[in-house]
Parts: sequence; C-alpha cells; structure tokens
Amino acid sequence: MQLIKLSLYNFRNFKNIKIEPNNLFNIFYGDNAEGKTNILESISLLGSLKSFRSARNNELVKIGEKKAVIKGVSLNNQVSDEISLSIDKDRKTARLNGKIVSQPENYLDCLRPVVFSPEEVSVTKGGPSGRRRLIDRAVFQSTPIFLKIFKQYERQLKQRNMLLKERKSELEIIPWTDSLIDTGSKIRFARKNYIESISSDFFDCYKLISGSRENIKILYQNRYDCLDDIKKAFREELLKNREQEIKYGITLCGPHRDDIFFYLNDKSLREFGSQGQQRSFILALKTAQVINLEKEYGEPPLLLLDDLLGELDQQRQDFFFQFLFRMQGQIFITTTDIKPLEKSGINRASYFNVKDGVLHIRQN
Ligand code: ATP
Ligand code: MG
Repeated sequence: MQLIKLSLYNFRNFKNIKIEPNNLFNIFYGDNAEGKTNILESISLLGSLKSFRSARNNELVKIGEKKAVIKGVSLNNQVSDEISLSIDKDRKTARLNGKIVSQPENYLDCLRPVVFSPEEVSVTKGGPSGRRRLIDRAVFQSTPIFLKIFKQYERQLKQRNMLLKERKSELEIIPWTDSLIDTGSKIRFARKNYIESISSDFFDCYKLISGSRENIKILYQNRYDCLDDIKKAFREELLKNREQEIKYGITLCGPHRDDIFFYLNDKSLREFGSQGQQRSFILALKTAQVINLEKEYGEPPLLLLDDLLGELDQQRQDFFFQFLFRMQGQIFITTTDIKPLEKSGINRASYFNVKDGVLHIRQN
C-alpha cells in the first residue's frame, strides 16, 4: 500500500504542487503555518474521503478559487490506480481511474491512511461524539462495507426524527423504528467486535509505550455480544424513551448517542488520566489499529503523523520509532524541527521543506 504520486491544485494554501513520495519515510518540515498539516490533510482526504480536521468544503479550496483537486497514484501488489478528489463549494467528487466513484468501498481500499494528529489526543477529554468518530473511522477502514450501513442509519434516523417532530401517528413511525433497530444494532455489533479485536494489541502497545503496568480498557456502552440480544435491548431502550421522544420530537437513544469509555486502572481516563497517559492511550489505540489493518490485509496502511514529536516525550518517541522501523510501511511525518528525526536512525527518507506554498525536496 503506497502513494507514489501526489499533486495538489488550489488545495488550501497550495496553488500547484507535485511530489513523488518515497516508499518509507516522507518528512515535511518548515515553520508554523506553511502548510505541512495541509499536505497530510490532502492525503487523508484522498484516501478516506474525509478530513481529520472536520473542515467544510469551501475551507479546503484555496481562497479566491472555485475548485480544488487532489490527485494521486496508489500502488498495491504492483497494481497502480489513479485516484482523485475534486472539491467545490457544494460537493466532493472522487474518481478511480477516471470513473466517478459511486460506491466508495473499492476506492477506500487504495490507501487506507491512518492519522495520528494532536487533535485526536483531546478526544479522551471531549464529548462522546469524538470517541465515536475515532472508533467508527477505524471500523470503516477495517471493513469498508460498514460505511454503507452507517449512511443508511443516518438516513433512517433523519426520517424518524422528522416523523417524531411532525407528531405523526405511531403506525407511521413503526416501520422506521424497525429499520432503525435493525441497522443501529449492526453498528453497535460492529463497534463492539472491533474494540474486542484490537484489545490485546492495544494492551500490549500501551505497556510498551508507557513502560508501566497500568491496566487499560476500552468499554463500549453496548455490552451485548450477539446481534439478537443487541436488537432486543435497543427495542426496549426505545420503548422506555417513547414519551420523552414524543415530547422532544427526536430519537433519544441508539448508536448516534452512545459513548465509548476509556479506563485506566478501572478509573475514567477522562477524569483521572494525566496528559502523558492520555497521549499514550491514543498512541496505543492507533498503533493497535495499524497492526489490525496489517493483519487483515497483509500489508501496512499509510501512516500520517502530524507533529508527532511535539506530542511525545523521549521514551514514547523511542517506542514509536522502533514500531515504525519494524512496520516497513509508507509514512508521512510533519515537524517544525527535523534534528530529532535525523538523529532517530531513519534512513531512506525524503525531506520536503514546506515554505510559502512551495516544496523543496532533499533526498537522504
Ligand atoms: P503548524 O506548524 O503551526 O502546525 P502547518 O505548517 O501545519 O503549521 P497548516 O495548518 O498546514 O500549517 O497550514 C496553515 C496555513 O494554510 C495558514 O497559513 C492558512 O492561512 C493557510 N490556509 C488554510 N486554508 C486555506 C485556504 N483555503 N486558502 C488559502 N490558505 C489557506
Ligand atoms: Mg500543522
């Protein structure tokens, strides 16, 4: 899994740039606000059709321009594909080998980028939506078909909320309740299975990163293991909330409201975790996600590491570099200071100096 060409037209602060990334380390360095994160964002968008910055379309297009285009060539098992994403105010259009992508599952197999960004560390402290997004993105990458199910759920939820708001009769709402239970239970099932599938790697990574014996856990609100039990519990929950739903005109329970709890030594990470423990937790989670993808597809995903060094102390950096060297995948790193990277033993890296929307390449 590799990105062998990348070009940006009118994307963020870039007018027109083209690069041919190395198959291992690609390091983007430069001062603040020069566009380093923008480059990682473009790769994340190209590979996953989503920005890790939750940006609106018009923020992605260069100020004063109408349309941005991100183009790339991916390489998987010696087969190359041309992928592109054009963005204008109203829509994003993805193309795979020139054809507009209507079903994104195949397209999402081309790069599978996993992002580690400082914003994600704050997910441990924030509200449940950030944690749901973190896990859901990991679920899509591991099983792209789930994207369809999530989208279906969003549509059903919107429709059901509309009927509740319009105070329609129970008879009209029942079919939407049934389909919401069906789809929503599959989402809960997928999240629970995913969390369980990475839990042992997650645990091991945390131990290595933090060098401690702390006991960590991720617990999902839904505790049921089998799909039928999940469905039954969801139906009961909806029934319990019925009066409130009618009062407020909105669906008050379901996977769109669930929380995912992070624990450290059986205490809430959110309330009791130090900054360092929270960073280690997210880093371990991301590392476990990478290991999981590698096991599933037989090759490592693309890793996008935004300002990682600013986030980690020496011990965590050492662990992470050992992991990266072992992984042998393609990695994109941004930093304001390249010295620690040059000293970390990285060889075969391409260094790109980012300045005023222009890239200057230096091969190592
Ligand atoms: P830091 O080291 O502080 O993280 P960075 O190099 O990662 O900085 P980015 O976040 O990639 O910086 O880029 C920020 C720059 O991009 C800012 O100068 C901002 O004004 C510019 N920028 C963002 N969106 C657009 C846009 N739509 N059009 C033009 N410029 C933009
Ligand atoms: Mg940045």
